[in-house]
Amino acid sequence: MLRIGFVGWRGMVGSVLMGRMREEGDFKGFEPLFFTTSNVGGEGPDMGLEIPPLKDGYDVELLSSMDIIVTCQGGDYTKRISPEIRRLGWKGYWIDSASALRMEDDSIIVLDPVNRSVIDSGLSSDIKTYVGGNCTVSLMLMALSGLLASGHVEWISSMTYQAASGAGAKNMKELIAQMDVLGSVSKALLDDPASTAIAIDEVVTQNLRSNTFPTENFGAPLAGSIIPWIDSPMDSGQTREEWKGYAESNRILQTRTPIPVDGVCVRVGAMRCHSQGLTIKLGTDVPIDEVSDMLKNGNRWVQLVSNDKESTLQHLTPAAVNGTLTVPVGRLRKMLMGPEYVTAFTVGDQLLWGAAEPIRRILNIIIEHLSG
Ligand code: NAP
Repeated sequence: MLRIGFVGWRGMVGSVLMGRMREEGDFKGFEPLFFTTSNVGGEGPDMGLEIPPLKDGYDVELLSSMDIIVTCQGGDYTKRISPEIRRLGWKGYWIDSASALRMEDDSIIVLDPVNRSVIDSGLSSDIKTYVGGNCTVSLMLMALSGLLASGHVEWISSMTYQAASGAGAKNMKELIAQMDVLGSVSKALLDDPASTAIAIDEVVTQNLRSNTFPTENFGAPLAGSIIPWIDSPMDSGQTREEWKGYAESNRILQTRTPIPVDGVCVRVGAMRCHSQGLTIKLGTDVPIDEVSDMLKNGNRWVQLVSNDKESTLQHLTPAAVNGTLTVPVGRLRKMLMGPEYVTAFTVGDQLLWGAAEPIRRILNIIIEHLSG
């Protein structure tokens, strides 16, 4: 029976992964072993089955007795343990949610509804490292897979509206703590029907700018504001998050002629759904109905939302999509720039299709590959 080690299962991505695996009844046909970097001997997750106490996540001997290791532990862990067990001659499959190995020659970024053929050819050429992609990139590709497959896309500009969860669990809490402060300081004015919005704004702004406003994790207010900077700077003037748009999209798709993807990545006060406003340059004037059909038929999770206010408010918001696997695309139309320019808006849960779901699915694909 296959032995599969799980590391990082209690973090944010890991716990969403565990939840999805439980929901889909994935814990069967293999022997799972749960690892920890902080609580050796402790209790593992409730999987509805007997599991041994937690093993040491740094025990490379034990790790190298696994057929597959699934890690959602983080980049530092990957950088330390992955080369170490490979040096020991480990030939197993390494499945990872961190970005550390994404651009390595012998790894594949996984998003099977979009790049199943790339994954299959990796498996047949004995590639052993499979890594989940950047959340924003994966969500954009899920939304556009049908159009991208048509070969009509010349370039894409993506302006993002990224959720707090992408920055980590502490940041999600900080966003709500910031909202709480703003709610508390404006409560008396809000309760007074005679108060003006301008008076409320003054109190809110004063608090946003005060030294005591909770910004330890974001470094700036997010509630009542936005932060147009995500991750570290690159020489190009892009942030690393913006750089990934081009680098990872083309790597996932294994394009022969790379498709330029660029834009500004912005953190907004959503909890766990990233949204993106897209400008898509097509090679020719493809009728909008055909573009709609291509998008709609891209994969079974994409949902085309008609370009009207009611449908948009009902289906195309983080509040509507949070916690679901649906990837809606709407606000679709041709732009004034010319008939080859299309705009669209898309939303997706960055912990599901943006992180845990591609990992859950590649695990099943590898299990199937090994048992086939
Ligand atoms: P995380 O929540 O910080 O969890 C990582 C590990 O931290 C846990 O597995 C746990 O390891 C330890 N930990 C320490 N204190 C904890 C606590 N109070 N609650 C839960 N875990 C605690 O990290 P993450 O956001 O899931 O990200 C994991 C990896 O996925 C990162 O490389 C990240 O870049 C990547 N990723 C994240 C996202 C995202 O949206 N967050 C999206 C795509 C990829 P032990 O059990 O060993 O102590």
